[in-house]
Amino acid sequence: MTALVWFRNDLRCLDNAALSQACKTGEPVRAIYLLSPDQFQQHHMAEIKADYIRRALDELAKNLGKLGIPLDFVNAPHFSDAPKAISQYCQAHKITSLHCNAEYLINEEQRDNAVENALEIPLKTYHEQLLAKPGSILNQQDKPYRVFTPFSKTFKNRLQLDFPRCHPRPKPVSAEIKPTKCPPLFGNGDASNWPTEEIALLENLRTFCRERAPDYKTARDFPAIDGTSRLSAPLSIGLLSARQCLARLLMEQEPEQMEHLWSNDSGTGCWLNELIWREFYHHLYQQFPHAVKGKSFKPEYDAIQWRNNQEEFDAWCQGKTGYPIVDAAMRQLNQTGWMHNRLRMITASFLVKDLQIDWRWGEQYFMRHLIDGDFASNNGGWQWAASSGCDAAPYFRIFNPTTQGQRFDKDGNFIKHFLPELSGLQGKALHQPNTSSVNYPTPIVDHKQARELTLDMYKLALA
Ligand code: FAD
Repeated sequence: MTALVWFRNDLRCLDNAALSQACKTGEPVRAIYLLSPDQFQQHHMAEIKADYIRRALDELAKNLGKLGIPLDFVNAPHFSDAPKAISQYCQAHKITSLHCNAEYLINEEQRDNAVENALEIPLKTYHEQLLAKPGSILNQQDKPYRVFTPFSKTFKNRLQLDFPRCHPRPKPVSAEIKPTKCPPLFGNGDASNWPTEEIALLENLRTFCRERAPDYKTARDFPAIDGTSRLSAPLSIGLLSARQCLARLLMEQEPEQMEHLWSNDSGTGCWLNELIWREFYHHLYQQFPHAVKGKSFKPEYDAIQWRNNQEEFDAWCQGKTGYPIVDAAMRQLNQTGWMHNRLRMITASFLVKDLQIDWRWGEQYFMRHLIDGDFASNNGGWQWAASSGCDAAPYFRIFNPTTQGQRFDKDGNFIKHFLPELSGLQGKALHQPNTSSVNYPTPIVDHKQARELTLDMYKLALA
């Protein structure tokens, strides 16, 4: 009799329902991770993210080893190989129960159904990857929300009634075991700048919640300031859970500050809202799967005839558009595998509404380069930029990339870091460089003309 935990997007020992339940069986416990590099690449996973997962798995193997649980790596290049790989493993190790935390996207759900059908033992699935199970936050007509604000309101009401609690670390099930190393998944990514050790992650979370969350509302839009948590990477592979984030945020509140958490006007309340955005997108795509298949959430937006100029796309990818805030942001992505949220909004808007390039091109480029690449949040962000998503804002809201730069990086500290060629410039000269005196590209499009073209393009499609 042996219980098996199948790790996927939940690479942690703390607050892990599947691991806790397997340990509660009182049987010996083993753990497995399926190496699916072909599938990951088909999903456009970034090389840096593949390296981050490998490092996280090494750390997980160490922590599981201390609990007396071996972590085995099993090849299943595609999800379609999972049923055979898991069945064979279960037979070889006389597995009597299989535990995992649910994943909600179509391919993952199909994989899990196929595994369940192939096994003679039940697949015990726990709905704890998110703060709330998709489908559990509904409107008064028992329908899923399509708009964020009422979703968030209901979500917060639910939290106030029933605040989720973290699962403690399980007790060792047998003597300590020497961990096995995870082989490389694919590519040459280097995620060594991103911590994977539990202690470092918890310390980062604690420091953010204690010192920076109170100022989050005023600091979060300025890329030159360390105003956001930078926890999207560990959240995206489950090195940390959203519940751990929430619990820590709560723990760091003085009793008299508790009310702030529920208010959109406070830093802590605003950060909680961001965690709820993450929930919202995951709920949305589980409930409206058409949008997962490359379609616009609002189908009428699929009539847009994009201009799709390859040279302009390449200039955007390389950070050579001639718009400093856009170029510095793209270079941040290319050099570090991460981009600040305000810049994701600006660069996505620029691609779609200044270059008239299909948002799906940008979505894929982001996935291929982001360490925190997450289908739901990325697709949601891109459809927000293209106005084809669930956002109520009209399509004619178009960012001006120059004024965005002036507003959110006024002194140019962020721009100059990633575009050292502009380091001698200030004020207007920095945000609209005179390209005859600096080695920097002239703007590839004129924003005013591009805006008019986009408005016509949208009007035509939606007429
Ligand atoms: P914080 O500001 O500290 O927020 C805390 C956490 O809340 C984040 O770590 C993240 O998990 C969640 N969160 C914050 N903002 C959002 C949001 N708008 N939507 C969903 N969740 C959010 N986020 C990803 O995790 N993966 C992606 O692939 C991704 N792609 C994006 C693409 C575009 C075009 C846009 C506009 C946004 C995208 N985001 C994505 C959302 C957001 O930009 C990042 O989550 C955020 O920048 C991460 O930085 P942080 O951890 O410091 O966030």
